[in-house]
Amino acid sequence: MSLERYRKQMLFAPIGTAGQTAIRGTRVLLVGCGALGSVIADSLVRAGIGALRIVDRDFVDLTNLQRQVLYDEQDVQQHLPKAVAAVARLRRINSEVTLEARVTDVTPQNMLELLHDCDLILDGTDNFETRFLINDASLETGIPWVSGGVLGCSGQVFLVVPGATACLRCLLPEEPPQTETCDTAGVLGPAVNIIASLQVLRALQWICRGDAEPNRFLTVVDAWSGQWQQIDLAPLRSAAVCPACQGGERAWLRGARGSRSVVLCGRNAVQIAPSGEKIIDLASLELQWARLGKCTRNPFLLWFQPREFPDLELHLFADGRLIVKGTEDLARARTLYSRYLGG
Ligand SMILES: [Zn+2]
Repeated sequence: MSLERYRKQMLFAPIGTAGQTAIRGTRVLLVGCGALGSVIADSLVRAGIGALRIVDRDFVDLTNLQRQVLYDEQDVQQHLPKAVAAVARLRRINSEVTLEARVTDVTPQNMLELLHDCDLILDGTDNFETRFLINDASLETGIPWVSGGVLGCSGQVFLVVPGATACLRCLLPEEPPQTETCDTAGVLGPAVNIIASLQVLRALQWICRGDAEPNRFLTVVDAWSGQWQQIDLAPLRSAAVCPACQGGERAWLRGARGSRSVVLCGRNAVQIAPSGEKIIDLASLELQWARLGKCTRNPFLLWFQPREFPDLELHLFADGRLIVKGTEDLARARTLYSRYLGG
């Protein structure tokens, strides 16, 4: 396979031919393909990553287009899942990359399977619960991950290499309370692009590191004011008695924490998930729901606007998850779930 298309990148000495070969040999799991995930996936695929598995639970919504650079209006009209729309676009960018879309939640039950053949995890999530789950899985398997988060016009990035750097729980022993979300603070596209680009840089550094020590700094950026901070996390690692990386606790991976029924940040939407395994026959349900309102189907989900609740849009995935748009009321969404799906 020719490396000609990567020539400019290989001219950069820390990458070179050896680095490019290492990039080509790396398999990445991307958890979440919203704003950060779009930029991460785009950059990794252009850089010639070997394989990228994208897992995302959501579909493309009009309000995503302001910052989620992989998607367009046609994806919105077709109610396409983000992972599917992303892979379709990425294939046109670089057909040499092995790409895989998974339309699902990341859960304690599927986390290790999603991860099993990967070398690195990139965090494209928008919530701490999933980040703590990724952190547990990383420590359990020894697979490093690059964390990123952005809110308003600021954000932060750090790399976790089990056994060599501090982990998320060295930094935050517990999930912090969500005092501000992108619903209240908003989020700017350029800030997302900066943070996601820093995550990709961290990833490329780790892949091409040679004998160098992994980057142990937390980078905090306020893009509006232009302030950058580099915080050395090494003292944290040596001082902390971390329950996870030193104590071996895996509370999120063992499923002791977390729930799959959640309010989706910034979307005026909630997700209701069935408690066990559920496979839905979308085609036959479409016939039933077509009598109760507007209903269309694509290979991945059913879109439904009930006549009796014209303010709501229901998106039902084949794995039984329902995303209700138009409310942030979990109880109301649960009632709808049992009304239209039973149980
Ligand atoms: Zn730790």
